Amino acid sequence: FDMFVLAFLERFFRPIYKKDDIVLGKKLGEGSFGSVYRVSLARKPSSKPADLVLKKATEYGAVEIWMNERVRRACANSCADFLYGFRETSSKKGAEYWLLWRFEGEATLADLMQSRDFPYNVESLILREVQDLPKGLDRENRIILTIMRQLLFALDGLHSTGIVHRDIKPQNIIFSEGSRAFKIIDLGAAADLRVGINYIPKEFLLDPRYAAPEQYIMSTQTPSAPSAPVATALSPVLWQLNLPDRFDIYSVGLIFLQMAFSGLRSDNSLIQFNRQLKRCDYDLVSWRQSVEPRAGPDLRKGFELLDLDGGIGWELLTSMVRFKARQRISAKTALAHPYFDREGLLALSFIQ
Ligand code: ADP
Ligand code: MG
Repeated sequence: FDMFVLAFLERFFRPIYKKDDIVLGKKLGEGSFGSVYRVSLARKPSSKPADLVLKKATEYGAVEIWMNERVRRACANSCADFLYGFRETSSKKGAEYWLLWRFEGEATLADLMQSRDFPYNVESLILREVQDLPKGLDRENRIILTIMRQLLFALDGLHSTGIVHRDIKPQNIIFSEGSRAFKIIDLGAAADLRVGINYIPKEFLLDPRYAAPEQYIMSTQTPSAPSAPVATALSPVLWQLNLPDRFDIYSVGLIFLQMAFSGLRSDNSLIQFNRQLKRCDYDLVSWRQSVEPRAGPDLRKGFELLDLDGGIGWELLTSMVRFKARQRISAKTALAHPYFDREGLLALSFIQ
């Protein structure tokens, strides 16, 4: 199908929304770049009201609309289902950008990780058959593995499209009740390297708790944002040279770490961990050597979980959380990591 024909059809058949269609509900979030609400549509009183999410964004909303449109066409399953975005000028505060998504579910990964019952509270959400395994490391590992596979799958979709998210953290991962899977949200800090959108890094947008040590997504030797057509021709090369996707891999590695170590799930303990890791020159192996001798039960349990099956989980973690971007594993390669073979092995052991 021709892209032009598709775009033409879409103009006529894709619903268009405007301010008056939207009925505000509960506020879900408030950031420095906008507010997020649960909303419904007023238009069709006869039909069931659509359950949607609205973000009223500042000037960065324009980039966020661009990114969501790209994702919608290229890797729709990676992110929350985007409906429509438009510029809204009637507000007293001046022009805003309004973005609409389908309401995917109540809980982010951050909400779920805060529960004392994590990861068991996720088990019934993502695994269809309830396990007969007793509660313990094996079962927790299988749940965490499934979450990691979903996160890497979503991230691989974004990266294959040429988009780096740059703000991967549990707060920006929503559990989609319809898909029974985790999806990525909040593309407000994302960069589309293939066309040079938001190419100049806005490092102030980055969350220091989950950001990789490199300050800039592209090497500082990459002079400045080329104009769009030049960037289209150049960026696959730049992508190879600088591996900007590995910024997100570091962040998702920190999420893996927090899932394995219950003691590192709070903000304060993550900040403290980051300080310790920096003191170890971002070498997880020397961090382990420094904390393991005096480790409490929480840390010991995390190491034990990652050490299952000859330390295959620890191996994956250390290939994500590394100082040098080019030494970090890619999302696609990580998905083929032997850590993820475990589920297959387990299924076999059930049959036998
Ligand atoms: P912010 O820029 O404020 O961080 P986000 O896009 O991260 O905006 O959204 C804020 C919060 O709103 C999220 O943490 C999540 O709880 C909720 N949210 C956002 N999008 C959706 C969605 N599609 N479905 C359900 N909840 C969502
Ligand atoms: Mg967010």
